[in-house]
Amino acid sequence: MSTTLKGRVAVITGSTSGIGLGIARALAGEGAAVMLNGFGDPAEIEKLRAGLAAEFGVQVFYNGADLSKAQACEELVTDAEQRLGAVDILVNNAGIQHVSPVESFPADRWDAVIAINLSSAFHTIRTALPGMKKRGFGRLINIASTHGLVASANKAAYVAAKHGIVGLTKVVALETAETGITCNAICPGWVLTPLVQKQIDARAAAGGIPTAQAERELLIEKQPSARFTTVEQLGALALFLCGPGGANLTGAALPVDGAWTAQ
Ligand code: NAD
Repeated sequence: MSTTLKGRVAVITGSTSGIGLGIARALAGEGAAVMLNGFGDPAEIEKLRAGLAAEFGVQVFYNGADLSKAQACEELVTDAEQRLGAVDILVNNAGIQHVSPVESFPADRWDAVIAINLSSAFHTIRTALPGMKKRGFGRLINIASTHGLVASANKAAYVAAKHGIVGLTKVVALETAETGITCNAICPGWVLTPLVQKQIDARAAAGGIPTAQAERELLIEKQPSARFTTVEQLGALALFLCGPGGANLTGAALPVDGAWTAQ
């Protein structure tokens, strides 16, 4: 078993599913102790937690903080510091989507997307930074999106939040540039997770077309590779950022999007 992150502690928000779970697996696979977070069936989450701990021989804890609330974001980080001794790696991944034209975008959905996809990262980062600065090491990874770099119609809150988190990433990188801490954004294109499956299903229903056709149309409309980015590929990039090769890579917004943003 590989152990390049042995002795490191990672908090990954929204890691009960999708990309967050993929990154948690990658970090645990290199020996990091992990704090999981996110929603789901308690029995399923416990199975996931115990399974990761057994598979990789690392400590794995779970905190179900609702990251739409500032205080819960702070408590997630302090809980990890107390139970695991430190937070060396913080992956801000939790996110939701809502699709609607701007003039009919429900105000409560706007607030929820901004709170979970953007403000939560501000709150976890500001809580984790003092400990990272004291230890002279930190890896802050914000899961943005191609929608942090370019826009699509009907995603006002999501695009605003993702552009916002790219901006936050740059500011934190500047403020930590001489401290041993790096802060980067990963900007995935389409990844086949529950968040995207919902959009494929909605497309199939709206067009009266089979799901497979809706999936293909969704992909080729934006992502020239016509292939989904995988959670394993994103896990591998997160590992690179946490390793020695990533030590002077900071303030970047890294697209993993099959040339979506090259157009
Ligand atoms: P997902 O729906 O599979 O996972 C989202 C995770 O966030 C889940 O664990 C969920 O429980 C958690 N979560 C949601 N609301 C929360 C809250 N209030 N508090 C705590 N946890 C909460 O989605 P995903 O596709 O894996 O998305 C993960 C991140 O990647 C999101 O930020 C998303 O915007 C981003 N992203 C996804 C894609 C894609 O194509 N799937 C592309 C680019 C960026």
